Amino acid sequence: PYKGRSYEETMKIKRSNIAPTKVPAYSKPLLLTQGKMQWLWDDEGRRYLDMFAGIVTVSVGHCHPTVVGGLKEQLDEIWHTTNLYLTPPMHEYAEKLTSTLPDHLKVCFFTNSGSEANDLAIALARQYTSSFDVISFRNAYHGGSPYSVGLTAHGTWKHSYPNGFGIHHSMNPDPYQGVWGGSKCRDSLVQADRQCGCDGECEAGERYLEQLKEVLDYSVGGRPAALFAEPVQGVGGVVQFPKKFLKKAYELIHERGGLCVSDEVQTGFGRLGSHMWGFETHGVTPDIVTMAKGIANGFPMGAVVTTKEIAQAFTGTLHLNTFAGNPLACTVASKVLDVIQGEDTMGLCRRVGERLIRGLATLRDEFNIVGDVRGKGLMLGVEMVQDKGSRAPLSGPDMLEIWDNMKNMGLIVGKGGLRGNTFRLKPPMCITEEDADFTIGVMRKCISDFANKQPQRKVTI
Ligand code: PMP
Repeated sequence: PYKGRSYEETMKIKRSNIAPTKVPAYSKPLLLTQGKMQWLWDDEGRRYLDMFAGIVTVSVGHCHPTVVGGLKEQLDEIWHTTNLYLTPPMHEYAEKLTSTLPDHLKVCFFTNSGSEANDLAIALARQYTSSFDVISFRNAYHGGSPYSVGLTAHGTWKHSYPNGFGIHHSMNPDPYQGVWGGSKCRDSLVQADRQCGCDGECEAGERYLEQLKEVLDYSVGGRPAALFAEPVQGVGGVVQFPKKFLKKAYELIHERGGLCVSDEVQTGFGRLGSHMWGFETHGVTPDIVTMAKGIANGFPMGAVVTTKEIAQAFTGTLHLNTFAGNPLACTVASKVLDVIQGEDTMGLCRRVGERLIRGLATLRDEFNIVGDVRGKGLMLGVEMVQDKGSRAPLSGPDMLEIWDNMKNMGLIVGKGGLRGNTFRLKPPMCITEEDADFTIGVMRKCISDFANKQPQRKVTI
């Protein structure tokens, strides 16, 4: 049992000494004291199924024994040298990591976070192309640091000081909320919009591509430095682009002489089930890949992997990041890869993800307030609406009520999207089919309790 500071004392410290934040929290914030694989425990010993993994970060499970074992051994060897010297963990990990990527992506820069990784990728692209203009999509989240927050295109995460000089946002190809629709063309097992009659080559995708062309023509002088994209948008609410959209976007950027950057902070390391990297699900090959979060199961770490030529562009002056590539983080990351490759983690994402999304699709068909179900592998989203016809977002207080109730029944899921109306399911990649069934059961109960209080929203399509 937990013997530390009481809940009330911890809340007092939070109010006095922790930076205030608007990041969504339960009505009564959770005090978490222990984690083991897919489970979390609070100060009173209540157990929760963690279907959000610390925002997609605990990739192979809380305190996974292989990872903990590796870290404990390394703790007694060496912690830190600041990359001035060779250390076995960093060099061995660089070799191991690049062996999972296409042949041309050979050179690693290590960082301590995803924001740092994207900052560095912007700098590399600008240095390599000698161009300044960078493009990302509206609704993207690429970080909160002064550079990367410019890529992030959610007003909710931005302050009104200047950020993002030379960064342009193209219209988001969101098949559910975007102006041109296109749901049938997503790479998902279940499709929400049965009105879109096309099969693969999506007209909506073409229109979003036109928008990208317009950004290039109207806002970018000469060639662009880079396009940044998440293979599936994470913070934005598990938004999947129409099929073939990203491939054509990459072709366009390459034609204009720019680089393509795949932000794999959420989608990498097998989470999508079919491939190790999200970009592979689109059939594209990026010039730079950025990663963080799940790379080290919650230990602070990030990476940028690129080609020899692009990396070379950064050798004109000195570049150093004190903690990046430290032996502890690299050991943890290395063990995480061992687990992913040795325990068929990708197979699990596919199998359990399929069971989950099929269960979620039944909720979508049962309830008028479940607008859309989407995603791939263990990266799934459930967009909640006032009704299917209007697709207007379910309000913040309504979302909070359902979210609180799920937590009270022992289920932790995330929330996302610009209006916070998408539940996000991105658990540690060790959950079981029983966990998937529990998740659907709790969601059904909480959504149904909510809907039954409001007859006009009661049931079905
Ligand atoms: N890219 C993506 C896709 C992310 O989801 C995030 C974090 N939510 C980041 C970058 C930034 O990572 P960090 O918080 O480690 O800086």
